Amino acid sequence: MSKKDKLKNGNAKDNKGISVNKDDFSEWYSQIVQKAELGDLRYNVKGFLVFQPWSVLCMEKMYRYFEKALQSNGHNPYFFPTLIPEENFNKEAGHVKGFSPEVFWVTHGGDTKLTERLAMRPSSETAFYQMFNLWVRSYKDLPFKTYQRANVFRYETKATRPFLRSREFHWIETHCCFATFEDAMKQVEEDMEVTKDILHDIFGLPFLFFERPGWDKFPGAERTFAADVLNPDGRVVQQPSTHVIKQDFVKAFDIKYVDKDGKEKYVWTTCYGPAMSRIFASVVIVHGDDKGLRFPWEIAPRHVVIVPIGDDKSLIKKAEELKKVIGEIGEVIIDDSDKSNGEKFNEWEMKGIPVRIDLGKRDMKDHKLTVFRRDLNKKEVINEKDLIKYLEKVKKESLKNLMRQADSLFNDRIKNVKNINEMKKAILDGNIVRCGFCSIDANGEKCATIVEKDVGAKVRGSNLVKEKASGKCVICNKKSKNVVYIARDY
Ligand SMILES: [Zn+2]
Repeated sequence: MSKKDKLKNGNAKDNKGISVNKDDFSEWYSQIVQKAELGDLRYNVKGFLVFQPWSVLCMEKMYRYFEKALQSNGHNPYFFPTLIPEENFNKEAGHVKGFSPEVFWVTHGGDTKLTERLAMRPSSETAFYQMFNLWVRSYKDLPFKTYQRANVFRYETKATRPFLRSREFHWIETHCCFATFEDAMKQVEEDMEVTKDILHDIFGLPFLFFERPGWDKFPGAERTFAADVLNPDGRVVQQPSTHVIKQDFVKAFDIKYVDKDGKEKYVWTTCYGPAMSRIFASVVIVHGDDKGLRFPWEIAPRHVVIVPIGDDKSLIKKAEELKKVIGEIGEVIIDDSDKSNGEKFNEWEMKGIPVRIDLGKRDMKDHKLTVFRRDLNKKEVINEKDLIKYLEKVKKESLKNLMRQADSLFNDRIKNVKNINEMKKAILDGNIVRCGFCSIDANGEKCATIVEKDVGAKVRGSNLVKEKASGKCVICNKKSKNVVYIARDY
């Protein structure tokens, strides 16, 4: 490792906070990842990073919300092997074509060359389907709903960026079998509902759910639906996607059930993949400000930090006392490190802890507390006896405040356009554009290519809340069949 690389994360220790505004998004993001100690990029495999406690603690909470929702909707948890035999992998042509360039292969066990290569899972359809073939027998077994939390591996050739696109990422994948296509579509609707309930209503992230155009589907999917979140640089990030898989796939794995009429039929399958590491990136990006991170209380790695002002023993004792009291409603850190008060304030503001208590001797004597809440960047003095009431208020309000800001920013950046010049301008200004489009099936691909070439943006798809198309395709002037959204991505 070069000296420069070693120093790269060394910045984390200078406690000077973020040196650029969020407007300088790319640099802001790269600094926040390192300075708030979210991920260490110095691990010596390219495209892989070490997830540090401040990101893991948040992601653990995010996982819990998703797993709870999935289980209550009837999904059962599994842990599948990381390795998938090449034989399984090669069974479905569309999947092979889509994923092959990105697969890491295991070729040796010790010094012995394996008789068959094993894929490090890039996604686990071909592992689950192998077992569905054995497990699904009758209509009585359906629906068969599974999920696993797992890390998956993809040899990304595009530039990697911590949490947003790495060669290993952490996610949940669901794989489900149904008797009919209609049942599978209902699952897709449930997946979108879960996404809204959690991503927006708990994590505070605004997004639009699109049906992806025919030319931009998940490898092997019949229909693909995906959520897009907007970054400050005007580029969208794809968040959870859910798919009805083509029956070619279950035919390749011979997943059949005996129906009520005694006939053997192929199942329909779906998969849904909320990627926790990437959702975490969106939490960082959407809620962060010039000073650093901000978290809704629900997923904050820790809730309260107590900073004793001075090293008087009575302050530490008081901090311990408060920690016990606060423990009823939140997780507390006492920062009695050697850093200066200023350094501590900067650090905790940068790390986005929802509440900081600056514990001084005079306050203590007066039974007062000086508190700082990060959602509003507001410092106030409260009576010590009101502490729990105060924290409950912040707990209730922090998500609402962050969500309100995020929603209004997002909604302001969806612009209607009528022609390609308006589109170019709106995209350059960092917006998502909305317009009439000839079609999101194969017929529209030609116009989509023009958008990509001339505007440098992609057709993301149609909004599921049925939008009535009227007027003409913004590119070819034919009658428009769909209203589409167009944006830049990474
Ligand atoms: Zn067109």
